[in-house]
Amino acid sequence: MEEVLKSLPQLAKDKQNENKKFFAKLRNKPPKKLDYIMQELHEEEFERTDCLTCANCCKTTGPLFTDKDIQRISKHFRMKEFDFIKTYLRVDEDKDYVLQETPCTFLGADNYCSIYEVRPKACREFPHTDRKKFQQISKLTLENVKMCPAAFNIVEEMKKRIKL
Ligand code: SF4
Ligand code: SF4
Repeated sequence: MEEVLKSLPQLAKDKQNENKKFFAKLRNKPPKKLDYIMQELHEEEFERTDCLTCANCCKTTGPLFTDKDIQRISKHFRMKEFDFIKTYLRVDEDKDYVLQETPCTFLGADNYCSIYEVRPKACREFPHTDRKKFQQISKLTLENVKMCPAAFNIVEEMKKRIKL
């Protein structure tokens, strides 16, 4: 996995123009079965990819925290929400709560998440490749393929399977 992660930024850069064109066409004319195809591609990829050997999302970006995430996680720590925010979070340029630092404070050396059961919604859903109307998050996906090997592979498979 280490080698894969090392080569991923360059691989993603090489594919950037091709991916941009593909997603522009996808947004214009999404296939009727897109949700179904994405579900299938997502499941196939995560049968092959074990996130515990990677954790690159937790190491390099980290999620944003919704109010509900903050309520749930601070309750888990028996902390006041204000104290939780002060200890772990900051407000970013889009006015969202994000981690003060990466790798994520809650990531263990074994790549396990220490708050897995109560982790932020964004962590549960990352890399969003099984969400409905996938064509609507093409900008985000073009960023995610630079650091998530699973998202990269899924987009490569999409291009093979969906002829636009
Ligand atoms: S979601 Fe992607 S970046 Fe995160 S651990 Fe899994 S393969 Fe790695
Ligand atoms: S909360 Fe857990 S899943 Fe989310 S970035 Fe941190 S370690 Fe990863």
